[in-house]
Amino acid sequence: MKYPAKINTYCPFCRKQTSHKARLYSKGKARSMAWGQLKHERKLKGYKGKVAGEKTVKKQGKRNKVVLECAVCKKKIERTIGTRTRKKLEIKA
Ligand SMILES: [Zn+2]
Repeated sequence: MKYPAKINTYCPFCRKQTSHKARLYSKGKARSMAWGQLKHERKLKGYKGKVAGEKTVKKQGKRNKVVLECAVCKKKIERTIGTRTRKKLEIKA
């Protein structure tokens, strides 16, 4: 699926329609000491007779996100494009 590199859309900071630059969203590095991560690891470890927790669930597709940067205030908003899909999202030049 293709997404335009420049779109006019609502900016919640400027409170009006402005021009936005689009780029693909990429996930940041996960923190190993994050509360949820520690909890997940604890669950995987298990305890004596208890059944160890399930490993990470594999979903069929990924949610595609774009980051839109406002040309006026330079603030960014994230937007999910569609739902879970195996198709790749690309920015149309
Ligand atoms: Zn703005």
